[in-house]
Order: sequence, then C-alpha cells, then structure tokens
Amino acid sequence: TTADWQAADAAHFLHPFTDFQALAKKGSRIIERGENVYLWDSDGHRLFDAMSGLWCVNVGYGQQALIDAATAQMTKLPFYNSFFQTTTPPAVELAELLAEVTPPQFRHVFFAGSGSEGNDTVVRMVRRYWDLKGQPERQVIISRWNGYHGSTMAGASLGGMKYMHAQGGLPIPGITHIDQPHWLEHGAGLSRDEFGLKAAGWLEQKILEVGPDKVAAFIGEPVQGAGGVIVPPATYWPEIQRICDRYGILLVSDEVITGFGRTGNWFGCETMGTQPDLMTFAKGVTSGYVPLGGVMVGERVAKVLIEQGGEFEHGYTYSGHPVACAVALANIRLMREQHLVERVRDETGPRLAAVFESLRDHPLVGETQSCGLMAALQLVRAKDGADGRGTPFDPALEVGMVCRGHCFGNGLIMRAVGDRMIIAPPLVMTVAQVDELAGLIRKCLDLTLEDVRA
Ligand code: PLP
Repeated sequence: TTADWQAADAAHFLHPFTDFQALAKKGSRIIERGENVYLWDSDGHRLFDAMSGLWCVNVGYGQQALIDAATAQMTKLPFYNSFFQTTTPPAVELAELLAEVTPPQFRHVFFAGSGSEGNDTVVRMVRRYWDLKGQPERQVIISRWNGYHGSTMAGASLGGMKYMHAQGGLPIPGITHIDQPHWLEHGAGLSRDEFGLKAAGWLEQKILEVGPDKVAAFIGEPVQGAGGVIVPPATYWPEIQRICDRYGILLVSDEVITGFGRTGNWFGCETMGTQPDLMTFAKGVTSGYVPLGGVMVGERVAKVLIEQGGEFEHGYTYSGHPVACAVALANIRLMREQHLVERVRDETGPRLAAVFESLRDHPLVGETQSCGLMAALQLVRAKDGADGRGTPFDPALEVGMVCRGHCFGNGLIMRAVGDRMIIAPPLVMTVAQVDELAGLIRKCLDLTLEDVRA
C-alpha cells in the first residue's frame, strides 16, 4: 500500500535534492504507472506530467518500440563494454545515427552514462585538446551563474547553483562564472536585444580578466532549464559565438535538456544559431527509458584527439551500454517516424507559446517565456506596466511552492523555481493536450490567487 511504501522509503531511501526530514514527515508521492503524457500514483490519481519526468521522457510513457528494443537486446547481449578495442552493434549503429541527426561538424561521439558524466568528459577533453595543441596553460572553463550542468564534482562546479557550491567545497579549480542572460534579473532599462548583447559582453570581459591565453572553453545551456527556463534574447548566442571565435576558445553546448527536439529543432544550438565544438547530451536520447549520456565531438577537437592523442585515459563501464544504445536507436527512429521535431516546431510549440502569452491576462502572471516545448511564467504580486517585469512576492511566502502544491493536488506536474513556474511536457503531446494543459494551469493559478488573497 501507499503507506507501506512511504514508511520504507522514509526509513531507507536518501532521495536526491530532498530535505530528508521533510520527506519523513510528509511521505513521498509514489508514482506507479505511465501512459503517453499521463502518470498514475499509487492511489490511482492521474497526473498530467508537464515535466516529462525530469525533462527526459520526450516520446511519452509506454512506447512499445523502446520496450521491445530493450527486451531484444537484453535477451541477446545484456552487457558488453567498449573499452580496449571492443564494442557492440547497437553502440556502433547509434554512433552512426547520432552523426546523422546532429549538426554537420559532429562526426564522433564519446558515450557516458548521464549528463553529469558527459560534462566531466567535457572538462577532461577540452583540457586534453589544449595540451595536445601545445597550449597547456589554457585550462579555465567559463560557465554561468544559475546554469545547471549536473551533480558530479565537475558538473556541479560548471553549474552556477550557489547552494550546490556551498556543500563540498566547489567549484573545483579552473572553473569561473559569468552572470546569466536573464533579462528580468539584469536587464532593467534595456530592450531584450540590447540586454542580450550586454550579457554576451560579460564573456569577453571575463576572458580579458582571466587572460585570453588561459581560457579553454565556454559552456552554456542554449535555454537554461533547471535555472527556470530562461530563454535568452535572440542577440545573445550569436554574439557569444563571435566572442568564442575571436579568442579561439571552444564553445560547448550543454544539450542535456535542449537536445532531441525540445526547442523545435533536433538541438538547441540550431535554434540559437551557434556551431559548438562539443555538445553534451543525455535524457532525451533514450527518452529516459534507460540511462545514457555522452558528448558529441566536433571535427576541430576530434581531429586533434584522434591524430595526435594516442589513448584518451577516460571512460565509464557503461560508455556505450548496448541496451541503452538499442533503446536510443528505437527512440530516435520513433521521433523521426512520428515527425516529433517538426510537430514541436510547427504545431505544439507555437500553440504552447500562444497559451503562455494568453496566461498573461491572469492577475498573478508577469513575464512568460517559451521555446519549443519548454515554457515559464513568473508569478508576481503586481503587474506594474506592460513590460512583464512586475513586482515580485516576498520570497518567504514561497508562492511558487503554493502553486506547485495546487498543481500536484489537481492532476498536474509543474515545477517551481522560486516564483517561476516551468514546464517541459513530452514531445508527443497533441494540440488538444496543450489546451488541456492550459486549462489545468489556469485552474491552479486561480487556486493560488485565492490563497494569496486570503
Ligand atoms: N546538464 C543539464 C543542462 C541538465 O539539465 C542536467 C540534468 O538535469 C545535467 C546536465 C545532468 O544530467 P544527469 O542528471 O543525467 O547527470
């Protein structure tokens, strides 16, 4: 029963990113079953999963093609590794297919087990690249405050979540941060486009401060996900690309969330107009059905690693896991057959954008933003004019958490980042389901408003 599971859970399971005492007091919600965009908990309540699990179940729950691929591969060969000049057919076939669906500079992949491991690989690979280029002093990687790049020592260091740095003595040496391109936080008095150029300029300032001959790479998410679905101004990424080119530093696109269709293109860098040298992926590559991550390695880096590098002393037991690769192959093929990326670009993405735009008539909603099938709305105390800025609530009121509670209680999974409510629903969502989602969100906003007024 639910109560039994909750008791065992509280007694034994240390959950990630969870206050252990709060969990013991309230008990976890036990999610038991999924189908399409819906989940059911252990008491039979249906939830619209507008977060695709953790931004990953792109093809939705219950896709038989992925289940069959896993079953067939487990039956034939559940595991073999890719160390020491061995490999398996699914790993080879996936490497080839990834070279096909990613932008043309990518012909090679390094497999890992997760996004965090992918970003650890990035750190080791860019430093290796500059060593091989005869510039070993190029060690510094620049990333952004409020970015998220995972939970390993390197991933959390690249990330700009200060509460994560506070535990465990982070960041590790050689990683430094610039501010995020968040117009609401930093853009007062500027148009969004002016602000985009200003925010990109912070990268150039940092490069000059560190010394251009010491900087190895810049890493960022095309759209910050865990930071609150912060869609940068259109001017931002092209200017970042120009700055990276000017100083010869590597550009790394962390596509763990934005990869595999989320923004209405196969990869977020295509939406934002950059040509990164490296690209981290995970999550959507298998739609989360089994763990898999990795790094797409552009020809600039691959050529040096392959022709000059000898052995790259790095890798994971599960690099190129055959079951994970078989599931990824089935996932990508299904995305193609069902034209999911095109549907996000032409149908569901524009509809979601219109829905979020229309939510701005709600008394609690200030700025709204969307990009493909990821979107955010800012809860505000007062609207104050037309630019969407609004007056924030006192953070102590935790209005975002109040709203999230109403969502959870009314069949909707929506995430709160402070007072910013965010979603990233499965890409299989239909236009009718976008409208269903809109109705649920409005209902939960109304309930939140009643609480705020009370
Ligand atoms: N990078 C980004 C942009 C992410 O959003 C995440 C996870 O949410 C990661 C990296 C870390 O991936 P994982 O949790 O698979 O290690």
